[in-house]
Amino acid sequence: MHERKNHPGSEATEPVVIPRTEHRLDPGQISTSALHVVRRLVDQGFLAYVVGGGVRDLLLCIPPKDFDVATNARPEDVRRLFRHSRIIGRRFRLVHVFFGHEIVEVATFRRGSTGVVRSHPQFEATASGRLLRDNLYGSEREDAFRRDFTLNALYFDAVQETIRDWVGGFDDLRNGVLRLIGDPEARYREDPVRMLRAVRFQAKTGFPLEAATAAPLPRLAPLLATVPPARLFEETSKLMLFGQGLRNFNGLVDQGLFKPLFPWTAEWLAADEGGVHRALIERALRVGDEASREMADRSFIFILAGFFWGPARQYMRWHVGEGMDRVAAMRRALQVLMREQQKHVSIPRRILDPVESLLVHQIRLDQGTAQAGSGHLLHHPAFATGLDFLRLRADVGDAPADLESAWRDYAATAPAEEPASGPARIRRRRRPRRTL
Ligand code: ATP
Ligand code: MG
Repeated sequence: MHERKNHPGSEATEPVVIPRTEHRLDPGQISTSALHVVRRLVDQGFLAYVVGGGVRDLLLCIPPKDFDVATNARPEDVRRLFRHSRIIGRRFRLVHVFFGHEIVEVATFRRGSTGVVRSHPQFEATASGRLLRDNLYGSEREDAFRRDFTLNALYFDAVQETIRDWVGGFDDLRNGVLRLIGDPEARYREDPVRMLRAVRFQAKTGFPLEAATAAPLPRLAPLLATVPPARLFEETSKLMLFGQGLRNFNGLVDQGLFKPLFPWTAEWLAADEGGVHRALIERALRVGDEASREMADRSFIFILAGFFWGPARQYMRWHVGEGMDRVAAMRRALQVLMREQQKHVSIPRRILDPVESLLVHQIRLDQGTAQAGSGHLLHHPAFATGLDFLRLRADVGDAPADLESAWRDYAATAPAEEPASGPARIRRRRRPRRTL
């Protein structure tokens, strides 16, 4: 066992170097493209390492998504060395090096806010301490300390085949603990998204949060309101999709982090007698967790439908009380709900439109097959997904158990859609497909 000197916040001037004999990271598992980039940079006299999630995942025997490279070469130097590369990013510039479909992201060492003179022209923070810009280049050491969790700050030296650890990440990995680098409260204030990452890495690694890393979460959760809604959409998708949606959802709820993202859903869940809506959401998440990556959009539509169904139906009932018909009332309810929701997590229209359509469709399905009209409902793109959602609702006791099968029978015996040609058809104006 190594004697560890470095720990988060330490003044170490050298990293602990873990030799090949002591770590299980097999360079053969790193993408050859990433290794090529590192070797080329090193040949040119630069420092270059594989770092971040790829190294963490390999050490944990989780298949990595991708491999990032950190270097002391400036973006222009990297760009010059690789013909198929492009400088991207405004907040901080990175280089994407292309190998067919694979992209290796190369980032120049940067420093975070710790120890930076706050009046520096390139450093900006808000009153709550949130960083607006942190694009100052730094040393390898500074690059390690500006990262979020110790597990995410391990540098793999592909030439020596060693791991360079400035922050005690290797010990944390061995002991199975998630620890934020530096003072947790300050780090969450700098970037509240780290609170969401804490939940996500907990589910991904199966490790608990170290006590000081966990403690500030419920208290600081409201800071998420200061993060741009588009960034929260990105993080929310990563949380809800890709296999760990249910665990992440439970983690967010437990830590009070769900409410700032989906306030109306959270409020609804708090008043959810019998837990019907929570059960519905959990089922939608479970379906998503079992689906393939290609189905991500469809899964997300289902999950969000689960989030909004409860509150939307309640607002719908108010409008119905004011004399609106149920379908119009549901549309109106969704319009208001979504407008408010977008201020927290901005969901792109390609996801939101089908969610709205799916929920409006529930109202029609709830009216039963006797109200099916001419049958155009069956040919709506939302019909099949609508029935799947109805099934989930029936499973948790939110819809009659036999309604879904009644609709399936009806669909099987209903006449085929009217012919697409013929004078009557030509004269008729097409209804927009977006809503029912
Ligand atoms: P995954 O790709 O599995 O989601 P990851 O750790 O690779 O996990 P990325 O978002 O790809 O996460 O970020 C790459 C690395 O950049 C992280 O490992 C971490 O070192 C650093 N990083 C990312 N986001 C932050 C942040 N908000 N604050 C500090 N460091 C961060
Ligand atoms: Mg990554």
